[in-house]
Amino acid sequence: MSDDNKLADDCFVLPPGVEWTKVEVALQRLRAGMKAVTGVERLPVQSASGRILAEDVTAKRSNPPVANSAVDGFGFAHASLKTAPFSLPQTEGAAKAGHPFTGDIPAGNAIKILTGAPLPTGVDTVILQEGTELVDGFVTFKHAPKISANTRKAGEDVQVNARVFPAGHTIRVQDLALLAATGISEISVRKKLRVGVLSTGDELVQTGQPAEAHHIFDANRPMLIEIIKRWGMAPIDLGLARDDAASLEAALDRGAKEGDVILTTGGASAGEEDHVSAALTRAGTIQTWRIAVKPGRPLVLGHWKNVPIFGLPGNPVAALVCALIFARPALLVMAGAAWSEPVGYKVEAAFSKSKKAGRREYLRARLKPSGQVEVFSSEGSGRIFGLSWATGLVELADGAQEIVPGTMVKYLPFSGFGL
Ligand code: AMP
Ligand code: MG
Repeated sequence: MSDDNKLADDCFVLPPGVEWTKVEVALQRLRAGMKAVTGVERLPVQSASGRILAEDVTAKRSNPPVANSAVDGFGFAHASLKTAPFSLPQTEGAAKAGHPFTGDIPAGNAIKILTGAPLPTGVDTVILQEGTELVDGFVTFKHAPKISANTRKAGEDVQVNARVFPAGHTIRVQDLALLAATGISEISVRKKLRVGVLSTGDELVQTGQPAEAHHIFDANRPMLIEIIKRWGMAPIDLGLARDDAASLEAALDRGAKEGDVILTTGGASAGEEDHVSAALTRAGTIQTWRIAVKPGRPLVLGHWKNVPIFGLPGNPVAALVCALIFARPALLVMAGAAWSEPVGYKVEAAFSKSKKAGRREYLRARLKPSGQVEVFSSEGSGRIFGLSWATGLVELADGAQEIVPGTMVKYLPFSGFGL
């Protein structure tokens, strides 16, 4: 990685003297410290959905390229209409999509024109076929349409050279239609951000492997690997590291060699079994972010061999919430996208809760058919079932709050986090 593509060494340093950092402050700090670290490649538009634009895209062609008819009908010059009822001699031939009529239409004449056909010279208005009658070679109608009725102007959708997408935009499927229509067949996109995903803990066993009673199956890695894919990034499965320095360092070394960034779960507190913190303290850089959030503290941020690390909590619920709230916007910026905030909206609560002051809370939540939102029966951060029960999160602000059924609360659907 060149220095241009490297985050600053102090990108994870929090303001000094803060005991519990508010979520907003943590996010502002992350936002200030992040920048794109990925390279650029050219891709055919057809292979580019889900990719992040590396540069602005401008239209090579107007859409539509020329004025044309929006309906099947008859075209004429509006200025040539006199008094109703109207009777215009029909010019022989027709203008069709893909087969423009090349002659001029004399003032006072009408020509048959079909949807999508370029307006022939002399035509600025089209009357719907259904509003006309053909009588002895004359097109007759009672009511005059407005000037330029039933026509589409050249460039009314997009003008040539107009910016259709800014750098940092993620190409969605509907964008492929706009890119094609404006004559763009190839674009410059960011190479996928390579994200190492590592689980840590002596109690962990990979699913499918034999497990003894004291083992638990690694629930975080399968989830996080798929989340990384959903975010348009390339996961690198770094496996499971044991709670010992050698195992952890080997996995981090591989992550630093093959990845642009590493996500770990577990071992990120300051206890004697918190080996991620210990390794970073010993041989990397480390900032422990004590964020005023539930679930999810602490978060460990740092570098291993110059590669940034996000050390997420081990509990799957906390790991997911921290991935969505903190890692997602940061990784997206590293991947070349704009900083993003999750889409949320206010809905009525279908639950009661007395919330203490001092921290932001994210509750596993489910939107009911009534439009109210209910929350999972337990807030325990080992209760993985609640993640599958939920359709999103309810976000409760830092202050104390007495919530009763009918109180408006902020609901963040999982889809707003790209899941
Ligand atoms: P730690 O952050 O390592 O103290 O872990 C906190 C809790 O999360 C402990 O109960 C761990 O067993 C559990 N945990 C850690 N990593 C995972 C994982 N990958 N899958 C499921 N549970 C985990
Ligand atoms: Mg552990």
